[in-house]
Amino acid sequence: MEKTLLLLKPDAIVKGVCGQIIDRFEKRGFKIAAIKMVQLTRKQAEIHYYEHTDKPFFHELVDFITSSPLIAMVIAGENAIKASRFMMGSTNPIDAAAGTIRGDFALNIRKNIIHGSDSLISAEREIKNFFTEKELYL
Ligand code: UDP
Repeated sequence: MEKTLLLLKPDAIVKGVCGQIIDRFEKRGFKIAAIKMVQLTRKQAEIHYYEHTDKPFFHELVDFITSSPLIAMVIAGENAIKASRFMMGSTNPIDAAAGTIRGDFALNIRKNIIHGSDSLISAEREIKNFFTEKELYL
């Protein structure tokens, strides 16, 4: 059973589409192992996005992700990492296929609605940044 971290970013909450997005993962067959609403501190955001520290968009990305609360969740199921990345679609919503979450709910490369871990190593690291072992119910 593979686990991955999903973030329904602040724009998903502002837009009021979190329920529809969670529904897609449940319908696909994934189980919710953990879920919470949280407003990130800059430090937590910088840890989460540390791979992008040197990118020109880093500061604005941290501004955005800390701007208002988000929903952090861990889903569990077969091939959770790869399957959820396909369901999310391309980073830039303009390139994301219709039927993917970003293709259906987003237009902006920064405000692209959802984060999903991109590898097993990232998933383990990212889950620990949001949840303790006790908070994981699967
Ligand atoms: N991002 C941005 N500007 C860019 C590229 C990415 O603001 O030019 C943001 C966007 O919110 C993206 C996040 O940085 O989801 C992380 O980028 P990454 O390349 O890891 O894409 P992802 O794994 O989220 O598809």
